[in-house]
This record gives sequence, structure tokens and C-alpha cells, in this order.
Amino acid sequence: MIDVRGGAAAEAGPRLLTGSPIAAEIRAGLTEDFARFKERWGHSPTLAVVLVGADAPSAVYLQQILRTCQKVGVEGRLVEIGSDVTPDALCTEIERLNADPSVAGIIVQMPLPAHIPLRAVIDSIDPAKDIDGIHPRNAGLLSLGYDGFLPATAQASVEILKRSGIEIAGKRVVVVGRSNVVGKPAALLLIREHGTVTVLHSKTRDLGHHTRDAEILIVAAGRPGLVTGDMLSPGVVVVDVGINVVPDGEGAEKLVGDVDFESAKGVVSAITPVPGGVGPLTNALLLSHLFRAATDQAERAARRTATGVRP
Ligand code: NAD
Repeated sequence: MIDVRGGAAAEAGPRLLTGSPIAAEIRAGLTEDFARFKERWGHSPTLAVVLVGADAPSAVYLQQILRTCQKVGVEGRLVEIGSDVTPDALCTEIERLNADPSVAGIIVQMPLPAHIPLRAVIDSIDPAKDIDGIHPRNAGLLSLGYDGFLPATAQASVEILKRSGIEIAGKRVVVVGRSNVVGKPAALLLIREHGTVTVLHSKTRDLGHHTRDAEILIVAAGRPGLVTGDMLSPGVVVVDVGINVVPDGEGAEKLVGDVDFESAKGVVSAITPVPGGVGPLTNALLLSHLFRAATDQAERAARRTATGVRP
């Protein structure tokens, strides 16, 4: 049963599902893992972050990733490429990173300039180094329910529920958004957790009709304040994945989610804050993927050296 709150509990406000403590716990484990990795293999793995052109929100995100790398003992390498790069030259740069044995993981910051075909770039990443799960091989593994690299944000939106003790099995779970990086993989992961999943998108008629049915609602639309309190049923658990930069009314800017927190807080039983919810967990999970990628690659290289056979 979902926790339908009333009286004093409602006045006290909803439970805030914060990602930072969970992320800190994951990072602490990873710091030990990467120290052991260095001891065993004699080097720290590198995460290569490819940034095409200057994009302010991306730059903020990248600084966060590079800081997280530093915290856990990973080399972060920012590969900055001019926005006038040709598609071929960009793919060649990615292939160079694929072939570099010191690079264990590659992420390509989105969005890319309009003249670059996304598909070609995604295809050029070695699936073994695709730690944010965007290559068709990893997306296919996810849809079949096999182990691959998961898109970190989608995984974070499910992980925050699981690690907060919120049961997914059997629940009516509604996902707003169907992008390849967040909505769609989140829906597949929620099916894997035995949720009864409905996916809404920009062409869905009467969004509120569907969101009011949710016992768990995941919102990843990139539309500030899209979901308001009147679109929610009492006691629903909400994961707000949206990160939107809006004016704060005093001449500066602030970050808000896709859910209107003020009108939602009296209705929900639990909600992820923005910022401080899904975001911090995303980076920690990404680096846990890097650890797995680095270990797989180091073990494969060692087998190759020992046997002379390419595994
Ligand atoms: P996207 O633009 O690729 O996809 C948005 C999706 O929302 C689409 O499937 C679209 O159909 C749907 N949508 C748009 N308007 C809608 C509406 N009015 N009603 C119903 N559905 C609607 O965006 P994305 O890359 O999936 O990102 C979604 C949000 O998540 C953004 O705010 C983004 O900044 C945020 N994000 C957060 C993290 C994190 O770490 N927390 C990481 C990545 C993205």
C-alpha cells in the first residue's frame, strides 16, 4: 500500500528523497574499489568526457563529473572539440579514445551541434567503454533484460526508490517522457522491477488523467512545473528528474524540476527535491559503471597477454 498521509504528517511535509547521502555511500565504496584497482593494475582508469562546442549547462554538469572523478581517484579527461567539427572528425576522435588503453569509459556530452548526426556518434563509441549506455548494443541488452551499461540518469531514478525502501513491484508506475536517455530506459528498468508501467509523452492527451493514476510517478520531460499538485493522487511517490534553469525573480537564475514543488508537496508522500535528488546519484552511478568497465578491460588485456589470444 502507498503511504496516504494526512493530518500532522501532511503538515510536516512530504518525505524528501535526497540523492546526496546515497551518492556519498556509493562514492565511499568506489574510492576503495579504485584504490584496489590501482594497486592491482598499476594505474588509475581514465574517464574521457567529450564536449563539442561551448554550452553553459553542459559546462556545469561537466565540472561536477570531473569533481566526482577527483573524489574517487579517477582521472577525468575533458576532450574539448570546436563546434565546427565535421561528423567524420568527431567520430575519428572517439575512435582514438576507443583505442587508448588508458581510457576505460567515454561519455559524449549532449546536445550535439545540429549538423552532427547523433546516430553516427553513438555508433562510434566502443560498447565496452559506453558507460552511459547510449550505444545500441547496451540499449538492446537493457530491453532484453541482460546486463549491459545502463543510462545513469534512468538508473538513478529507479535506484533512489529502491535505496529509499519504496517498493516498486505491483505498483502502478507512470513515466512522463520517452527519451532514449531517461524516460524509455527508466520505463524498462521499472518493468524489470515488476512495476505496471505506463509511459506518457508530448503527444499524450490529458496528462493529468494518467498521472493521477500513478502510485509512483517519474517525471523526465524537461518542462519546468509541468506536473502540478492537482495532477497527483494523495500519497503518490514522485521522482522529479527534470533539471531546468529558470529566472529566480530577483535577476538571477535557479534550478527547478518538472514538478511544481509548492503545489505538489501537500499531496505526495515522498518526492525527490531539485536540486539534490536524482542528480547527485547519477554521477556516482556513472563512476560505478566506469569501475566495471575498467576492471573488464584490464582483465581482458591480462588474458590476452597470458594466452596471446584475443578474448
Ligand atoms: P528530452 O527533451 O530528450 O525528452 C523529453 C521527453 O519528455 C520527450 O520524450 C517528450 O515526449 C516528453 N515531453 C515533453 N513535453 C511534454 C509534455 N508537455 N507532456 C508530456 N511529455 C512531454 O529530455 P531528456 O534528455 O529525457 O531529459 C528530461 C529532463 O531530465 C530534462 O529536464 C533534463 O535536464 C533532465 N535530466 C536530468 C539528469 C539528472 O541527472 N537528473 C540527467 C539528464 C537529464
